[in-house]
Amino acid sequence: MLEKFRTKDQVIRILAEIKKITTQPWRIMEICGGQTHAIMQYGLYELLPAEIELIHGPGCPVCVTSLELVDKAVAIASMENVIFTSYGDMLRVPGSNQDLFSVKASGGDVRVVYSSLEALRIAERNPDKEVVFFGIGFETTAPANAISIIKAQERGINNYSMLVSHVLVPPAMHAILGSPSNRVQGFLAAGHVCAIMGYEEYEPIAQKYQVPVVVTGFEPLDLVLGIMETVKMLENNEVRVVNAYTRAVTRSGNLVAQEIIQNVFEICDRQWRGIGTIPSSGWRLKPRFQEFDAEWRFNVHNIHTHESEVCISGLILQGLKKPTDCPAFSITCTPQNPLGATMVSSEGACSAYYHYARD
Ligand code: SF4
Repeated sequence: MLEKFRTKDQVIRILAEIKKITTQPWRIMEICGGQTHAIMQYGLYELLPAEIELIHGPGCPVCVTSLELVDKAVAIASMENVIFTSYGDMLRVPGSNQDLFSVKASGGDVRVVYSSLEALRIAERNPDKEVVFFGIGFETTAPANAISIIKAQERGINNYSMLVSHVLVPPAMHAILGSPSNRVQGFLAAGHVCAIMGYEEYEPIAQKYQVPVVVTGFEPLDLVLGIMETVKMLENNEVRVVNAYTRAVTRSGNLVAQEIIQNVFEICDRQWRGIGTIPSSGWRLKPRFQEFDAEWRFNVHNIHTHESEVCISGLILQGLKKPTDCPAFSITCTPQNPLGATMVSSEGACSAYYHYARD
């Protein structure tokens, strides 16, 4: 079904249209790491007119999960009687001294799962163990994670908890656009996040900072269409939010999913790796679900850590540097020996450049 969104002729036709309407340089940020990956994988960055610069945004949940939370995950996973479950990408994200993979190698029970509900099933089958799920992600994964908490409470599964690291897109956009060093003139908003949250919340952001925003999907045709719509608005000095991903997104989003999220999570300040704390940019469990909060259950609140000085992923995630600007890129930092999270995750900009850049 997705093949029609990868049709070479159509992509080339839209690229020609972008070239025709572009009269001056524009800098557009794709917020989502999945979009960065597709742009690099399909070589779209090489096919765009030279005037269009794509800036890679902070929308990779593995990359922005704070060092402090990785260290907390390592501390919990190293405890006796714990089964620590996580998406596979998180296992190789470097902590201050260790990653989850090395905990597993030293005998810790660290398991890769594909969802929080799988982690919940593990908890049901192992009532004598504490089962913890590393709940990373943007708005997209929040509904499923919230459901796992609701089900745990309903079924009395008291050996299940979550290390919550949810982050939100709109506060990150405020942080980028409000920064004195901001270079972004237009945004491609992430289609899957908007499928849950809709795009109403982007409208005041577009007006406040006078930047057009286009809700964009992940296939090559989606991406060039999103870029074309953004360039059209930039060239015509228009500021709106345009939905170029209508097959999945409506203005209000998925109201049922939003209600589930709001029942379980509340807004909190959140630390973003390499960027620092962005106010009101995360979700944490509401007080009535405290018993399912792994930070509270395992008392790891006092772990505080500092970022590596070598890695410039924070600047990359803010769109201020490219991976190739990092002196460690592909020399001392590779996917086999990552120094930062953006080289680990399949959605990380450094990993995308390492695998696909043709320089
Ligand atoms: S190449 Fe490695 S060290 Fe450099 S910014 Fe990327 S992840 Fe960090």
